[in-house]
Amino acid sequence: MCSGRVDLEFLLRAFSNGSDGVFIGGCRLNECNYITEGNYDALNMVLLCRKIMEHIGLNPERLRIEFMSSGEGILFTKVMNDFGKKVKELGPLGKGEEIDEDELKSKLEAVTKLIPYIKLVKREKLALHLDKEEEYNELFTSDEVDRLFREVISYHIDPDKCQACMICLKKCPVEAIVGGKNQIHVIDQEKCIKCGTCFEACPPRFGAVKKISGEPVPPPIPEEERTIVRKSKKK
Ligand code: SF4
Ligand code: SF4
Repeated sequence: MCSGRVDLEFLLRAFSNGSDGVFIGGCRLNECNYITEGNYDALNMVLLCRKIMEHIGLNPERLRIEFMSSGEGILFTKVMNDFGKKVKELGPLGKGEEIDEDELKSKLEAVTKLIPYIKLVKREKLALHLDKEEEYNELFTSDEVDRLFREVISYHIDPDKCQACMICLKKCPVEAIVGGKNQIHVIDQEKCIKCGTCFEACPPRFGAVKKISGEPVPPPIPEEERTIVRKSKKK
C-alpha cells in the first residue's frame, strides 16, 4: 500500500533476479494518505541504492522513482514509456556495463549481505525529509558510499578476554555467535549482520568483543582450544 515499504533488499533482489530496470511509483511528496510519508523513505532508499549501483559498476539509471497520483494516467503512461525506452537503450543488466555475469552475481551477493549494516550506518540520512531537490542530489555522495564499503566494520571476540558469560550469544539477533558454558565464544562471520549488539552487550570488565575496520578478521580459535579451565577447577 505504501512505497515506504520498498526496502533496499527488494531493489537488489530484483536486480539479482535479472531485472534490467526497476521502477518505483509513489504518491506525490507531501500528499501522503497516512501520516507516515513513506514516499520520502522510498526516495531516500532509492537514492542510496543508485549510489550503491554506481559503486558496483551498474548504471544507476536502471532504477527510477517517480511520484504521482492515481488520477494521472497520462503522466504514468509517459513516464513508463520513457523508462522502458531508457532500459532498452541500456541493454541487459551487466552486459550493458560490460560486467562479467559471475562477477556481477558475486558483487550483488556481497552488497545484499551487507544490507542490515548499510541501513544501520545510514539510518539517520534514510529517515530525512528534505525540501529541496538540490539537497536530495547531495544526500548520498559517491565518495561516501565508496568509503562505506572500504571501511566496513566487523566484530571479533578476543579469545584471551572472553569469559563465556553467554550474554552476547543470547542477545545476537541472528544466532551468529557460537559458544556455550565454559566455551570461548566465536562469531560466525558468514551469519553476522554487523549490528554491533555483541559489542555493546559484552560487559566492560571483559571487553572481549572488538570492532575491526579496514583489516582482516582474525581466524576463529580452533574448536578444541575453546574450553575455559577456571582457576578453582585447576586446583
Ligand atoms: S555484530 Fe550483531 S549479528 Fe554480528 S555477532 Fe554481534 S550481535 Fe551477532
Ligand atoms: S559477552 Fe563478552 S565475555 Fe561474555 S561470552 Fe560474549 S564475548 Fe565472551
